[in-house]
Amino acid sequence: MMQLPIEVNEAIRRLEDAGYTACAVGGCVRDALLGKVPQDYDLTTSARPEQTAAVFAGEQVIPTGAKHGTVTVVLSGRPIEITTFRVDGGYSDARHPDAVRFTPSLEEDLARRDFTVNAMAYSPRTGLVDPFGGASDLESGVLRCVGNAAARFREDALRILRLLRFSATLGFLPEADTAAAARAARDGLRHISAERTAEELRRLVCGRDVRRVVLTETDILGVVLPELLPMRGFDQRNKHHVYDVLEHCAAACEAVPARPVLRMAALLHDVGKPDCFFADDEGVGHFYGHAERGAAMTEEILRRLRYDNAGRMRITELVRRHDMRIEPTEKAVLRALRRFGTEFYFQLLEIKRADTLAHAPGPKLDERMERYAALKALGEKALAQRACFSLRSLAVDGNDLIAAGFSPGPALGRTLSALLDAVTDGRVVNEKAALLDYALSAAATDIQ
Ligand code: ATP
Ligand code: MG
Repeated sequence: MMQLPIEVNEAIRRLEDAGYTACAVGGCVRDALLGKVPQDYDLTTSARPEQTAAVFAGEQVIPTGAKHGTVTVVLSGRPIEITTFRVDGGYSDARHPDAVRFTPSLEEDLARRDFTVNAMAYSPRTGLVDPFGGASDLESGVLRCVGNAAARFREDALRILRLLRFSATLGFLPEADTAAAARAARDGLRHISAERTAEELRRLVCGRDVRRVVLTETDILGVVLPELLPMRGFDQRNKHHVYDVLEHCAAACEAVPARPVLRMAALLHDVGKPDCFFADDEGVGHFYGHAERGAAMTEEILRRLRYDNAGRMRITELVRRHDMRIEPTEKAVLRALRRFGTEFYFQLLEIKRADTLAHAPGPKLDERMERYAALKALGEKALAQRACFSLRSLAVDGNDLIAAGFSPGPALGRTLSALLDAVTDGRVVNEKAALLDYALSAAATDIQ
């Protein structure tokens, strides 16, 4: 027996009372069987979209994708996507079905779905409907295409990335035929829009098994991220590294908290290395300038994937700074917080920590880990003390300075900045009277 939320049961019951079949389907059934709380609930029904809309007259009904048979019904604040049983027509562009055809058969609807674990339906009346052995694959942690894998990936290449994404997030292994077919069909990914590719990648990198997927499916990922290919097998020729560049980045990616920006930055942090390799007289590898080069490449990758601007800039900046050294002193930390902002500072520490964890174990690693712990503690202490590290938190502003007799203009900004330095360095306390005194006496001796 599966427990569905009351609103979902209510939606099923209303459709059944009107004479239609309706079941929960896809991801929510899979997740519920795995004992996870599903993010959202999709229903599949024999009712046509306009019939569904009529059943829920009086409720909020949104025609989300009426052409594809989907309407969204909101019951007690919970949006439920309700889609008519359908089969997809041919796919001439490996992307969009040319036409969808509605069908009275739940089985046909399940047959169009990508993987067996996603092709199960459930309702209190029907129980679990599982014509392709999804429950058993779920049990053994296997991703298997419904039907002929080669044909399914040829129809819609996005399924190749979905395979990798589910493999990473669920920790499931693709079954042999499915895996081989996905690799063979990988060039089809060139037809998938940048936005959809990026969305799958965002989710894939947050998976618990991202490292395995990146390392075993590099050929597939290399179609959308060709920059990963030169990293594979690239020997760093350095005693602190036990991994090649790709293994190192995949390990760092998995070691960082599962948030899209951090994961992507960790995966790409050394993408510039292959271009910057240089062996010294002893044959030891060096990568001067790789962080800057990596930032340029990251910027290009994320533009190509049409990442949102904020994400692109943040990830690029994390790649650029990943090797930056911050001394674990109060003064250096305050300066870093001021320069980069608190969010970036803590994100950068996460990247540096994961980068270090993906190195060869040894005293140097331990020492570095201690340094990051100290940097984190100092940063948190500064936050707790509301230490002054931005002009906004300075106890005086431009108007205060003008009121105290300073002239408006660009020099005012320099004075504020100099005051902030003085506070950060402990030469003056962050209080209005003290700051004005300091500014006035310093103006006499020219603090800039
Ligand atoms: P999640 O919501 O966690 O991403 P999901 O399985 O619900 O997982 P959705 O993208 O919401 O994924 O799709 C809902 C269902 O629709 C899937 O479970 C699957 O049955 C089907 N589906 C989605 N995309 C495809 C596709 N490209 N090819 C075939 N079936 C698909
Ligand atoms: Mg879903």
